[in-house]
Amino acid sequence: MIAYDLQCVNGHSFEGWFEDENTFKDQEKKGLIACPVCDMTAVTRIPSTFAIKSSARSSLSSESTAAQMEELSLRITDFIEKNFDNVGCEFAKEALKMHYGVTEQRNIRGTSSPEEEKTLKEVGIEFIKIPIPTNPESDA
Ligand SMILES: [Zn+2]
Repeated sequence: MIAYDLQCVNGHSFEGWFEDENTFKDQEKKGLIACPVCDMTAVTRIPSTFAIKSSARSSLSSESTAAQMEELSLRITDFIEKNFDNVGCEFAKEALKMHYGVTEQRNIRGTSSPEEEKTLKEVGIEFIKIPIPTNPESDA
């Protein structure tokens, strides 16, 4: 919003609030700005003493937060890809093997069906689910 000091042809000065400069010019052209004292629509703008921008751009911080979140999620994905064995759809089978000591404990990643997840939970195997951003790796 911008505040303009205005003056009518009769010399009354008053203050008008406008969205921006163009809104003022538009309303002035159409004669929509009337003096509150004498109702004259012939008004002129006198050098403004102040202008206020109320709706400051506050979206900047949330935008950078979103970017940071995206970067973080990429880092997590990257970390998992580098440090976890991809066992693909064998995830549940491998997790069970480790649980029962058939194979050595290691970090694995892969995909599992809802039924398999249920089995893992019942057996007491802890795992985390993360959304995979690109290609669901079902072929391994
Ligand atoms: Zn007036």
